[in-house]
Amino acid sequence: MTSISREDVLAALARIPDPEKRGSVIDAGRVQGLMLRDGHVAFGLEIDPRKAADFEPLRAACEKAVMALRGVISVNAVLTAHRDGPAPAPAAPASPRGIAIPGVGKVIAVASGKGGVGKSTTAVNLALGLRAMGLKVGLLDADIYGPSVPRLLGLSGKPKTTAEKKLVPMEAHGLKAMSIGFLVPEDQAVIWRGPMVMSAIGQLLNDVAWAPLDILVIDLPPGTGDAQLTLAQRAPLSGAVIVSTPQDIALIDARKGLTMFQKVEVPVLGIVENMSYFLCPHCGGRSDIFAHGGAHQTADDLGVDFLGEIPLHMAIRETSDEGRPIVATAPDSPQAAAYLELARKVLARLERSGDNGRPAPRIVIG
Ligand code: ADP
Repeated sequence: MTSISREDVLAALARIPDPEKRGSVIDAGRVQGLMLRDGHVAFGLEIDPRKAADFEPLRAACEKAVMALRGVISVNAVLTAHRDGPAPAPAAPASPRGIAIPGVGKVIAVASGKGGVGKSTTAVNLALGLRAMGLKVGLLDADIYGPSVPRLLGLSGKPKTTAEKKLVPMEAHGLKAMSIGFLVPEDQAVIWRGPMVMSAIGQLLNDVAWAPLDILVIDLPPGTGDAQLTLAQRAPLSGAVIVSTPQDIALIDARKGLTMFQKVEVPVLGIVENMSYFLCPHCGGRSDIFAHGGAHQTADDLGVDFLGEIPLHMAIRETSDEGRPIVATAPDSPQAAAYLELARKVLARLERSGDNGRPAPRIVIG
């Protein structure tokens, strides 16, 4: 294959006039962080983040120009904030929902108010539970800053590209999976700024050959900031599952998660309590280490469904960290049973919510 050089890419971009300044986008100093790897090209276009919408046509034109070069397999051009510019304005809670992904049935998000509560582990095992019910399931790792799906599924290497230049999801344990972790070295992702993250997430949704899928599970970044809000707006979400631990502080964060989905009118399918109680790997005995049941109480208080309790168990941690998720590798274990039950409940609520993806009850938070 013809290999593509930095000069080729820069020359193609030098033919694109800048919409605000004299000369090309190169002359205007917009092009930043050009990366080339095996025919995959990525770069940022520095803009005033308040004008992100105005610059979208420029972004698309730059991508198209580079894509037309021989030897280019994929292009990821993203809008980034000026280094010294103002902070990006918070995303407005727009009402139009994300555009459906062709060939993908339902899209659900797994969210948490903060990191480390077991959101990714839950997303992976929930996806596997849905698959065990005979569904075609995909898993999108939208945790741009800390992608963990490659590790949880034991996947490495680079995704292939289709003739239409879409990325082919990787496969493990019968799931299709895509993660920024397959595309960008881990240390690169962390330097990205807001608009760049948004754009990358859009590509993981729309530039991946997901179809045919019954359900796409999105592992959201932890927290309730702009990235999460934008994703909740952009993705055609049928619902969201919130993962919380029993500790109060996590529950406060879980409430923030609820508020966020309420803002963008995404139905919350319910709350899961992870690390709910300790299951001893030796004797099988159960201990309620934390004030158990807090998530159930919060769900009741907020009028949201409680989707179940996942035990804190050594086997869950070990299998996750070894890329052999428990639902795939020990489906008959009591720990896997907890996830399978979760999958059943999620599916039941999705079906109840009908095709428009909006169940009747709205969450009201006082
Ligand atoms: P998050 O996505 O919320 O940051 P992770 O899913 O990466 O959290 O989980 C954080 C750590 O906790 C991982 O080491 C994972 O293996 C472990 N873990 C998650 N859920 C459980 C559980 N129910 N029992 C034991 N360990 C768990």
